[in-house]
Amino acid sequence: MKKHNFSAGPSILPQEVILKSSQAVLDFNNEGLSILEISHRSKGFIDVMEQARALVLELMGLEGKGYKALFLQGGASTQFLMVAMNLLEKRAGYLNTGAWSAKAIKEAKKLDDIYEVASSKDANFNYIPKSYDIPEDYDYFHCTSNNTIFGTQIKSFPNSPIPMVCDMSSDIFSRDIDFSKFGIIYAGAQKNMGPAGATLVVVKEEILGKVSRNIPSIMDYKIHIDNGSMYNTPPVFSVYTSMLTLEWLKNLGGIKGIEKLNEDKARLMYSEIDLNPLFKGFAAKEDRSIMNATFTLENENLKETFETMLKEAGISGVNGHRSVGGYRASMYNALPIESVKALVEVMSELESKA
Ligand code: PLP
Repeated sequence: MKKHNFSAGPSILPQEVILKSSQAVLDFNNEGLSILEISHRSKGFIDVMEQARALVLELMGLEGKGYKALFLQGGASTQFLMVAMNLLEKRAGYLNTGAWSAKAIKEAKKLDDIYEVASSKDANFNYIPKSYDIPEDYDYFHCTSNNTIFGTQIKSFPNSPIPMVCDMSSDIFSRDIDFSKFGIIYAGAQKNMGPAGATLVVVKEEILGKVSRNIPSIMDYKIHIDNGSMYNTPPVFSVYTSMLTLEWLKNLGGIKGIEKLNEDKARLMYSEIDLNPLFKGFAAKEDRSIMNATFTLENENLKETFETMLKEAGISGVNGHRSVGGYRASMYNALPIESVKALVEVMSELESKA
C-alpha cells in the first residue's frame, strides 16, 4: 500500500510522474535505451533539458524578461557559495530566518563581508522579521522563502533596491508570487520538483559580470548559461523527472492552480493543530508555512500511542527536526488532501482517546 508521505525531503512526487519516469528507466522515448543510459548530448535529452528550462520560466511568468533557468548539481548548499562567488564584491545583506539561512551566511562569509539585516534567532526562528532596511550600496540581499525546519514562510517579500536572491528550496512552485522581484532564485529539486540531484537556478542575466573575482568555471553562472546548462554532464534522470513534474503542474493550472490546493491542505492541518488541545503549533500564526507545519504534542505520555496510530494509518515522515522538537508535517505540491485528512483524523482520534 502506498503511504501518506509527509517527508520533508526528498519527498512525495505525483504518482503519474513516478509512473512515466519508471517507464523511461526501462525505455526512454521508445529509443531502446534507458534514461539512465542515454547521452546527455543526444537529441532526446537536449529536448528534455530545453523543455524543462522553458517550463520553469513559463510557470514563473518570466519569459522574455531577461532570465535564464539552469539545472545544476551540488544541491542548494552549493548555491550558498556560488551566489557569493558570482555577486559578492564588497558586502551583502542576509535575512537570517533559520538553519538554512545561517548556512548560506556561513558560506558567503568565507568570501567577504556579510551583514545580517535582521534575525529571528532570539525566538528560535519561530517568526519572520518584518522591519529591516536593505542598504542600497550592498551587492545583493539574500533571503530564504520557506524555512523547512522551523515551518515559517515569508508572506510578503521586500522591495529590494539591490538584486534579491532567494533560496526557495522548500516552497518553489507552490504559491503565486512576483518572481520578477528576484535577481536569483535557487532550489534543490528534491521537494517540489523531482528526485535529488538537480538544483534549479533562475538568474536574471543583467546582474552577472559585476565582480572582479576570477570565478572558477564550474561556479560561474555565465558559463553555465552560455553552455545551455550543459557545461558539464547534467543530472539526466533528475532533470527528466523535474520536467515531468513541471508538465504535471502546468496541466493542473500552473502555480495559481496548485496554490489553491496547498492553501486548502494547510488550512485543514492548522485548524486541527489550533483546535485540538493536545497539540501546539510552533511558528507564529501569521508566518506559518503552507508547506511544513511544525507542532508539538503537549502530553509526552501520549507520544508512543500517537506514533503507533500514525504507523497504523500508513502515515510516514511526520518526524520533527531536533532543533524544534515535536513533529513536522510537510505538505508539498504532490501531497493529496486525502493524506492531510488521514493525519488530521489520527490527531482527533488521539484526542478522543486521551
Ligand atoms: N535550503 C533549504 C530551505 C532547505 O530546506 C534545504 C534542504 O532541506 C537546503 C537549503 C539544502 O539543500 P541541499 O540538500 O539540496 O543542499
